[in-house]
Amino acid sequence: VTTTAAPLDLLADQLDGELALPGTDRYAELAMPWNVSVPVAPAAVVAATSARDVAVAVRAATAAGLRVAVQATGHGALATGGDVLLVVTRGLDECVVHPEGWARVGAGVKWQRVLDACLPHGLAPLSGSSLDVGVVGYTTGGGLGPMARTYGLASDAVRAFEVVTGDGVLRRVTPDVEPDLFWALRGGKGSVGIVTAVEIDLFRVADPYAGALYFDGSDTGTVLHAWRTWAATLPESVTTSLAVLQLPPMPGVPPVLAGRMTVAVRFLHVGDAETGAALLAPMRAAAPVLLDGVGVLPLAAIDMVHSDPVDPMPSYERGFLLRELPAEAADAFVAAAGPGSSSSLIVLELRHLGGAFARGGTHPSAFCHRDQQFALLAVGIGVPPLVDAAQASAAAVTDALAPWCDGKTMPNFTAGPSAYDAPTLARLIAVAEHYDPHHVLTDGAARLGRA
Ligand SMILES: Cc1cc2nc3c(=O)[nH]c(=O)nc-3n(C[C@H](O)[C@H](O)[C@H](O)COP(=O)(O)OP(=O)(O)OC[C@H]3O[C@@H](n4cnc5c(N)ncnc54)[C@H](O)[C@@H]3O)c2cc1C
Repeated sequence: VTTTAAPLDLLADQLDGELALPGTDRYAELAMPWNVSVPVAPAAVVAATSARDVAVAVRAATAAGLRVAVQATGHGALATGGDVLLVVTRGLDECVVHPEGWARVGAGVKWQRVLDACLPHGLAPLSGSSLDVGVVGYTTGGGLGPMARTYGLASDAVRAFEVVTGDGVLRRVTPDVEPDLFWALRGGKGSVGIVTAVEIDLFRVADPYAGALYFDGSDTGTVLHAWRTWAATLPESVTTSLAVLQLPPMPGVPPVLAGRMTVAVRFLHVGDAETGAALLAPMRAAAPVLLDGVGVLPLAAIDMVHSDPVDPMPSYERGFLLRELPAEAADAFVAAAGPGSSSSLIVLELRHLGGAFARGGTHPSAFCHRDQQFALLAVGIGVPPLVDAAQASAAAVTDALAPWCDGKTMPNFTAGPSAYDAPTLARLIAVAEHYDPHHVLTDGAARLGRA
């Protein structure tokens, strides 16, 4: 840090936003990620308020021999140390909805704000399970939301990016202008640049028939077997996931779900309530329902489908994809994480893929593995000593499901090259070599394995 102090001090005068140095309250506040278990301790933080700030920061870091990381909310925080300049994008806060069906959104904006601005126009964005997640981090990683089988990934609905590439240049990127970057930024996250704004398609959606059914944990096997055969019959109007939950008693958790194992079947049908209820009927009959939270759901409450935690928490996550879920795999899942297992996972979720997710959008992208049928995510407590138990529980599930898993992952749930097939990884590295010749971006190291 000492060797870089001079260039970073000079940087403060060049910014529209501010530079925060270690030891200050502002630094602590800006660096603190939503996932509080991840150590984020950079050499300094640039709180950007303009795209120009991001370009200035990338160039200053390069001159100082530092790498650059980016953080909006810290939902997907990566550990950073004193060799990194962290760009915090919260101040890039533009959010303009065009009633004809698209929006321009700054890199610091969360989905809640976009949704709120869309609803008066009868429009909805392709947000994720939680509206507290950042639009840009989510979208550059693909973005698998509660309407994914109907409308596809958020990254398939991008029209344009503005991005500061690793060479410190601000560029506008569309399918026709800088097409390599347009391809790479949809799936490649921050491995080729720091996005400053994104332009996205919006969708004209009426309030869906949606929510979650909750069952007792002792019915995990029965519900899972019913769910996997039922999911295979569903039309693309339905997106569903199943989660084994072990929620602690705390504010926001209904008492009936707290302090025990339960199973949630999340459901969203884009269409009328009568059809939705008919589609859901087999799951309502699968086992005694503890809590039935499915009905016509105002789009404003779309995050109730998953009911993800909003307050910052120390979380350990492990995600991977499954090519199929036959009966033997469901049995293995229940043995590893169901009743009677010693699983310490708070959430173990299986998302049903296919539909528009599998088909992809108009323009090819760096998001891979669309042939996989299920996405699995294990979440536990991320602080010692509990993190050891979370890791062991996630490993038990990984081992149990190994016969149906090819080691593939999604960029939003794992920061590593397993999110890409070999040709995609090679092309991403080539794009990164061109636009980040000095290997300045930490995402290039984490996600693409660039030294
Ligand atoms: C509670 C919760 C619910 C979630 N639900 C879903 C879901 O339903 N579907 C899904 O697909 N994912 C989901 N995720 C994962 C989430 O999409 C990723 O963690 C995403 O990276 C979060 O983006 P962020 O900007 O909020 O987080 P940050 O931690 O601020 O950023 C994480 C990463 O995103 C990238 N990034 C952020 N900003 C930029 C930028 N300006 N330019 C380039 N890259 C950038 C970088 O790689 C960065 O390291 C969820 C995560 C949590 C914790």
